[in-house]
Amino acid sequence: MLVTQLKPEEEVLPKISGKRLFIFECLGCKELYFPKEEVGKFVDSLKEEITGRAILDYLCNREFVKAYVGEYSKEIEGADLVLVFSCGVGTQVVSSLLESKLVYTGCDTLYLNGFQGLSARNFNCNQCGQCYLNYTAGICPITNCPKGLLNGPCGGTKDGKCEVDPEADCAWVLIYKRLEKLGKLDTLTEILSPRDYSKNITEYLSQKEGVK
Ligand code: SF4
Ligand code: SF4
Repeated sequence: MLVTQLKPEEEVLPKISGKRLFIFECLGCKELYFPKEEVGKFVDSLKEEITGRAILDYLCNREFVKAYVGEYSKEIEGADLVLVFSCGVGTQVVSSLLESKLVYTGCDTLYLNGFQGLSARNFNCNQCGQCYLNYTAGICPITNCPKGLLNGPCGGTKDGKCEVDPEADCAWVLIYKRLEKLGKLDTLTEILSPRDYSKNITEYLSQKEGVK
């Protein structure tokens, strides 16, 4: 099962205000709770210019999404940023394919247990319920940094590598480089608050009915 919810408008709107948008929407996994209607209403309410919109299954399938990126290349090129409505894996896949384009997510992921995604080995999501990809250039700081740091890097990074696993790239060096490429290094001046562990599937289910 997969559970995502729409991010609060006050978090998303300031980031997309006045920008031309290309929208990706994922309807993939069969057993899922995806706020399809809420997303539709939100997109319809936007005043921003939408250069194109792709609604597809399995945004977690990199090869599949690659084909869509090719098909919509002109519309994506004409957009200032790409807004993705999917789980954290789907947004990371899109971001990895569009490294020179700003990619934001409109969703928070709460649950991925039994996830059938095809790119999960390359792009993971820890279901933190408050997705940080809009601050980290589409690279998940929780699954890519062994310490799950929200304001990295730690003091142990050396020559771009991670102190926990010297074979691995430091996630925060990758985030820095991607933000630099996007001309968005100013994002790092925003200090992220500690993770709120109450944002989880148990809390979510206690507030919603009809999700099993
Ligand atoms: S920040 Fe990472 S763990 Fe949290 S929802 Fe986004 S992709 Fe998943
Ligand atoms: S070196 Fe980088 S990836 Fe490794 S724990 Fe420190 S901040 Fe995280």
